Amino acid sequence: MGTFKSKQTLKIFTTCFAISMLIFSCKTEEKPPNIIILLADDAGYADFGFNGSKDLKTPNIDKLASQGTVFTDFHVSAGVCGPSRAGLITGRYQHRFGAEYNENPVPKSEIMMSEVFQANGYKTAAFGKWHLGYKEAHHPNTRGFDEFYGFIGGHRHYFPDKEVKNNGNSMQRNGEYVNFEGYLTDDLGYKASDFIKKNKENPFFIYLAYNAVHTPMEATKEDMALFKGHSRQKLAAMTWSLDRSIGHVMQTLKDESIDDNTIVVFFSDNGGPTSNTSSNAPFKGTKGTEFEGGHRVPFIIKWNDKIKANAKYTKLTSALDLYPTFLKAAGITEQPKNKLDGVAWQPYLNGEIDEAPHKQLFWRINPWSAVREDSLKIVRAGKFGEGFYNLSNDIGEVNNLIEENKVTFERLVKDYEAWESEFPEPTGIGRSPKWEEVKGYMYQDMFNNRPIRIHSPGQLKAFKEKLKKEEENSK
Ligand code: CA
Repeated sequence: MGTFKSKQTLKIFTTCFAISMLIFSCKTEEKPPNIIILLADDAGYADFGFNGSKDLKTPNIDKLASQGTVFTDFHVSAGVCGPSRAGLITGRYQHRFGAEYNENPVPKSEIMMSEVFQANGYKTAAFGKWHLGYKEAHHPNTRGFDEFYGFIGGHRHYFPDKEVKNNGNSMQRNGEYVNFEGYLTDDLGYKASDFIKKNKENPFFIYLAYNAVHTPMEATKEDMALFKGHSRQKLAAMTWSLDRSIGHVMQTLKDESIDDNTIVVFFSDNGGPTSNTSSNAPFKGTKGTEFEGGHRVPFIIKWNDKIKANAKYTKLTSALDLYPTFLKAAGITEQPKNKLDGVAWQPYLNGEIDEAPHKQLFWRINPWSAVREDSLKIVRAGKFGEGFYNLSNDIGEVNNLIEENKVTFERLVKDYEAWESEFPEPTGIGRSPKWEEVKGYMYQDMFNNRPIRIHSPGQLKAFKEKLKKEEENSK
């Protein structure tokens, strides 16, 4: 079943000029749709009502889901914040331009989707977290956004600063450092709503990148009180405020009578980490890993009359697809000079093409990597292990099939090597070698389906001594 409705009700804007008292000349044209990306930060796959959460309350996001189509096999291009956003906003695997790790900027050689929309008459705004480069050359205002209200770095506190400082995590409006009132998640929704009201006559593109529910775990007293005694009280309260803020934005679209012609997508930039108590069930792994829990994220797309309501789309899709999908929806035919890695979803969702938008997807945060091909998945962690899973009957990546499917496993490794052979060296470095070692042991535990034994570099020395003793005892 197609998800884009085949019989589309077009929003028609009619401009009529009175030529005389009796004759009217009417010019009819379709107004391009507004586009809003609602991006959550570090939210778990299972932590929304529309994805089955029983203990976290998300009525407004669930309503959005019921008005649109929920994707169940949607992936971001990296399991951590910076590279995931780099892939999303350029429509290209971020490895193509060296932005493999957090804090690697997106170079000017890449054309962000905001730049295309701005050049095509859209009013453009980014709210919230940026995390795509600290220098002036990488600032949102130089990357296609008319308006920027947010912070440049990767995380910040949710309450006003005691004093306004000029650093990456300070709030700013178009380069000028500012403070705010109340709670940041609400504030970002208010600011986006103000922009919507001001620009309702234009087509607009809004990138609303909440830092919720990334650490630090901070919620308002009122929201905490609503979840008194909850086993994940802070996350529940922060998720509740995220939901309230999204509800506010959606209500503004309705109040301004533009919700029919506005495409809204909602998703998380990566899987939930352990640090914020999120849940990626039923998937294995967390933020930063190449198991499904790292990069398969909750996803909704809503576009009244054009996208099916109350529907699910279960085929393999990527955040890399949003760029070409939005260009097509906006009627922008000129493609950016750099080849996009995603595909426009329209022919897939309206039933013209029955196959999945992607047969294969790849991930790499060196030295960790993964490949999906249909329901097959390989995960590789160098000397710490590797796995081959069939998700059609093993969604939790538990049964390692390498030994019985060596030929297919090796073919997928070859496909992966061909994919990465095109890339330049990353422009920055990843985590410290000690962190990478910790992560290796974490992978080892995950491959072996056992509890994680080590969580931080501080534990490394004692952990390795223990391993050494165990080895000697077993001799
Ligand atoms: Ca994140």
